[in-house]
Amino acid sequence: MSIYSFTYRVLETALHFINTAIVTVKTKEIRKELAEAEFIPFVQPIFTHEQKLTGCEVLLRIKKEGNFYSPHRYIEVIEQSEMINNIMISLLHTVGCEFSQYKDHLPEGFYFSFNITASQLRNETVIAEIINLCLSFQEKAGIILEIVERDHLVLDDDMLHILDSLMSDGVMFAIDDFGTGTSSLKYLEHVGFSFIKLDKTLTVVSKDELIYKNVIKAIVALSNSLNIKLIAEGVENNTQLHLLEREGIDAMQGFFLDKPMNIDDFKCKFIIFSDI
Ligand code: C2E
Ligand code: CA
Ligand code: CA
Repeated sequence: MSIYSFTYRVLETALHFINTAIVTVKTKEIRKELAEAEFIPFVQPIFTHEQKLTGCEVLLRIKKEGNFYSPHRYIEVIEQSEMINNIMISLLHTVGCEFSQYKDHLPEGFYFSFNITASQLRNETVIAEIINLCLSFQEKAGIILEIVERDHLVLDDDMLHILDSLMSDGVMFAIDDFGTGTSSLKYLEHVGFSFIKLDKTLTVVSKDELIYKNVIKAIVALSNSLNIKLIAEGVENNTQLHLLEREGIDAMQGFFLDKPMNIDDFKCKFIIFSDI
């Protein structure tokens, strides 16, 4: 072994050690911060291009001292610890309980979309809870798992096998944050993803034009040829909505259409007092 490759190995090991130590310290701090917190599902509606409700994304909210917080400050550390599995199980369970009596009132083709990391797919309790929810909604609502990977998406053979098996149980998969520089592109061809979620950094508008219009056109063509549906994230105004519709995006999600809200508000607004 040359002196260079030896030095490289030593540095790599040291870096790994430092990273692990940082995660351990951060996890401890966050655990302390979250000791009294509750983990609550909020939901953000997703609409078809005809502006009909078609589904919702389940988004974790951290409830502390009566206030609800986005998990963005904590999520990386939470995802790297086993906390994420208990949180996911609790979100799945709550959504199941909250919507079970409204199954027949959901619009046709409705789906609940959950965020999940690839490594969580190895957790048997998480998988069991997902299948449980999927079975409990049967034809009344679909379950989508949005695979989020903060670095880059790696699906090994084991993982692909798990995905296949969940798909045969009726679970659908989406690639989340598509276009943020992950290596997810190669998985589109064979993995059987049903949805691509176009990251909000790709759907921005300036001077009444989509900044990434040509990239979006290419993604639309690609998704059409693979029979994958496209959901645009971060729709914040009417111009953006119409420009995205014109490009042939199937569904839209964003503050212009509606914000993430608690499940009671969602039920009142879209299920109980609505003729969807
Ligand atoms: P995400 O999966 O990309 O979720 C969409 C985020 O965009 C949400 O942020 C939502 O509030 C925000 N958003 C929705 N519409 C708009 C818009 O029009 N403009 C802008 N600028 N933002 C919009 P949120 O709720 O703060 O969640 C942040 C991230 O945390 C999520 O991003 C997701 O990656 C992660 N996350 C949330 N819940 C979970 C969860 O249950 N499990 C895991 N693993 N990650 C989660
Ligand atoms: Ca997501
Ligand atoms: Ca996203």
